[in-house]
Amino acid sequence: MHLIKSPAEPSAKSLKERSQIPATRRWVVKVGSALLTADGKGIDNVAIAGWVKQIAALRAVGVEVVLVSSGAVAEGMSRLGWAERPTSIHDLQAAAAVGQMGLVQTWESCFQEHGLHTAQILLTHDDLSDRKRYLNSRSALLSLLALGVVPVVNENDTVVTDEIRFGDNDTLGALVTNLVEAEVLVILTDQKGMFDSDPRGNSEAKLISQARAFDRSLEGMASGTSGGLGRGGMATKVKAAQLAARSGAATVIVGGRERAVLERVFAAEDLGTLLVADKALFAARKQWLAGHLQMRGELVLDDGAVRALRDETVSLLPVGVAAVSGAFSRGEMVLCVDSKGERVACGLVNYDSSESKRIVGVASSEIETLLGYVDEPELIHRDNMVVY
Ligand code: GLU
Repeated sequence: MHLIKSPAEPSAKSLKERSQIPATRRWVVKVGSALLTADGKGIDNVAIAGWVKQIAALRAVGVEVVLVSSGAVAEGMSRLGWAERPTSIHDLQAAAAVGQMGLVQTWESCFQEHGLHTAQILLTHDDLSDRKRYLNSRSALLSLLALGVVPVVNENDTVVTDEIRFGDNDTLGALVTNLVEAEVLVILTDQKGMFDSDPRGNSEAKLISQARAFDRSLEGMASGTSGGLGRGGMATKVKAAQLAARSGAATVIVGGRERAVLERVFAAEDLGTLLVADKALFAARKQWLAGHLQMRGELVLDDGAVRALRDETVSLLPVGVAAVSGAFSRGEMVLCVDSKGERVACGLVNYDSSESKRIVGVASSEIETLLGYVDEPELIHRDNMVVY
């Protein structure tokens, strides 16, 4: 096994070769439910032992690995003898609680064979949208890596409902990639990679070897459906790659059943689909902001404000906002759209929704007259905003 690229080399910009995955020091490896549970038949010990052996080999050459393991619901269903994924949220939560036991037991005992410890990290969206908890999770994960432990992350499915969840573990994997500043996100899936059309319905479908994460044409190619055991389809994997690209990470979507898959990806073999980061990196705080998945409200901006946000480094003032919708508190995340409803930016708002409605379209000097006080002259400060 050899390094994809020596850490001293600068990261390359063109897409010609696989060797352009950035210098690898830290990986996040996400394993999907269908793979982990042999398509729902129960935990696939042999497959897991295979990935563990490869991760141990990566660790031995100095690559730190965080695992994002799906499969709690799928394994819970299998243990409880349920043939179909339950629709009731409480049944899903129960299945996840049962299945998570099996998952961590298996990862831990397989890693023990290689003298490595694992640690269970269960996260919710709130853990990553609260700045303090975000930084706490980051410190804990980095400490575990420094101790040589392999963190095994999953969503804390037992305490979340649909409204407050990450949605799927591809997204969670990308957010963890941002969190620990990993250079590579590997998404192990039950397909060979990403195809230019759905291979389940089209035998002519071609595997995409390499593309830019933000290439618009990918979004049209990726189907949104998953196999039913987990939650993510190819569309969520492309979105995850885009999220991971915000911290400069490359994403590899690859068949988890390929022989020695991780070692071959590490050796820069042309396997699966490599989606490279092709946009300027976000600073750490902006990555955290961009990782917020739930918008509490929407601000419709006038054309002047849209231009100013896109062309200059300015904050959003009330005068540039034409309309406000949603119910949000001060400090919550809102989406800013243009008059056609296209996304322009998102950010943490300085006034709650009823205050915002009263001050839209007016000069900041009027805020005090209208509200009786003034907290800040801007509705969203530039430091608290991400422009798409
Ligand atoms: N967290 C879910 C589980 O462990 C999986 C979500 C997904 O498949 O993306 O069952």
